[in-house]
Amino acid sequence: MHNLIFFGPPGSGKGTQALRVAEKFRFIHLSTGDVFRREIAVRSPLGMKVKDVIDRGELVPDSLLIELIGDFILKYQTAQGFVFDGFPRTLPQAEALDSILKVHRSEVTCALLLEVKEEELIRRLVNRAREEGRSDDTEEVIEKRLVLYHQHTKPLTDYYTSSGKLEVVHGIGDIEDIFRNLCKTINKRIKAEFR
Ligand code: ADP
Repeated sequence: MHNLIFFGPPGSGKGTQALRVAEKFRFIHLSTGDVFRREIAVRSPLGMKVKDVIDRGELVPDSLLIELIGDFILKYQTAQGFVFDGFPRTLPQAEALDSILKVHRSEVTCALLLEVKEEELIRRLVNRAREEGRSDDTEEVIEKRLVLYHQHTKPLTDYYTSSGKLEVVHGIGDIEDIFRNLCKTINKRIKAEFR
């Protein structure tokens, strides 16, 4: 089982790229943000629980994410691989993922960080707000999400550097070029796993 992690600031394009990578490698794509948005749309108990937190641009509690991911991996344990998009987002989530994978005799293949500078992120998010009307894409909430990214998610860079899993991929430019770079990086890691 191969386990790819996509992380990066909001607006880095990780959702778009994660989906394409999952299709190409035939891995199962799990976007925690999409899961929550679907649950909110159907007004499920989980959706109702997380709606306000998400609308404010804050992070859903770790315990809830860890349970969600544990159940998900168990459900698809015969999969070739997973693409985790938007998870882990905090250090406790990263540690929990490592232990869950260990139980399944697996580990993180690599953690892909899409690097995009702040001005570009804000430009993209403001555009997305106009086009998609996501309720958490207002200026104030965008700022909050960026701050929380720097506080909680950016430190994962050190975590995955120390385990030798970090891959930084340049996230500005042509979507196809970024995708090609990602695939090259992933292919190298997957080959190395077989060595
Ligand atoms: P983006 O990367 O653009 O901020 P996502 O679609 O990944 O958006 O997530 C949307 C929201 O869902 C986040 O702002 C957060 O409130 C919640 N969320 C998603 N994944 C996690 C996670 N792993 N931990 C905590 N909250 C999460």
